[in-house]
Amino acid sequence: MSKPKTPAKPPTPTTPKRKAAARRSGQAHARPTGQRRGPAASDVVGLLVLGLTAALAACSPKGNHNASGNGATTTTGLSGGAVTVQFLDVGQGDSVLIRSPEGKTMLVDGGKSTNRMADYMSQLNISKIDLMVATHADSDHIAGLVEAAKAKPTLFINNGIGGTTQTWNRLVSALQAQGTQFQTASGQVINLGSVKVHVVAPPDGMPNNQNDHSVGIRLNFGKFSALMTGDSETPETNGWLAEKNPQVQGPITVYKSIHHGAANGDHQAWLDVVRPQNVVISVGPNNYGHPTQSALDLYTANKVHIYRTDQHGTVTFTGKADGSYKVSTEK
Ligand SMILES: [Zn+2]
Repeated sequence: MSKPKTPAKPPTPTTPKRKAAARRSGQAHARPTGQRRGPAASDVVGLLVLGLTAALAACSPKGNHNASGNGATTTTGLSGGAVTVQFLDVGQGDSVLIRSPEGKTMLVDGGKSTNRMADYMSQLNISKIDLMVATHADSDHIAGLVEAAKAKPTLFINNGIGGTTQTWNRLVSALQAQGTQFQTASGQVINLGSVKVHVVAPPDGMPNNQNDHSVGIRLNFGKFSALMTGDSETPETNGWLAEKNPQVQGPITVYKSIHHGAANGDHQAWLDVVRPQNVVISVGPNNYGHPTQSALDLYTANKVHIYRTDQHGTVTFTGKADGSYKVSTEK
């Protein structure tokens, strides 16, 4: 295991000198594998803090949910004190757009296509991103973020391991040009309006690859919850189980299938803890066999309602603080 070379929480790259160095190295926010992180659940980003009261007060006390998976028009409205979690159909890749009842916007990953992201930016009127997360630096997760950087993200969080690709370098440059603040995942808790965002940092001692350093994101809006963990494989999910990380404990209203439904993603011991009610598989035409039959069988055996972006298009969950929610699909 390599020794730490940089502080656990990297400084904000605000000076021109530091920006230039970051561009040259392409490792602006690199953290060597196995480096210890700062204290968990401690960092609150003041810029994103808004009052809780207004949105919670606006929630109606309905106790049921209504799911429609038959081609209903995607709902993007923000009225009525609801959070929307949209699993964008970006083909083979991940991109999840979250909007708080107050209109605060978060984007977790951006898919592999800048053109597709440009379309969504205009269709969904994404003009400002408050929080952007790259779960890890693989291109099917970050390429679209280069385009999304035009929406001037206030804060960018990643796993601390810079990519080695031109796409990664382009992303870092695009964000620096917008004055975005950079942080490494370290268990931060961020108030996206009245939606509580828990950043789930990769456990220590992971194998030296991007997938097993995927950043997890847990959202809570009252009783409505969501969890997504990028392309984390069994070592990482077992690591979170071993450290008894409270942010991966369910029940979870909507959960993103790990690694596009790969065979080395979700497993029974993990789902026993996560206890998802709905799973969305973000997947498109691919040569990897995603989603695998074993993943589909696992969800079925656990009585998890399955949505797939390759079959349903963009899948939108609209959740209220009382735990009620509705699901709409593009097709
Ligand atoms: Zn992926």
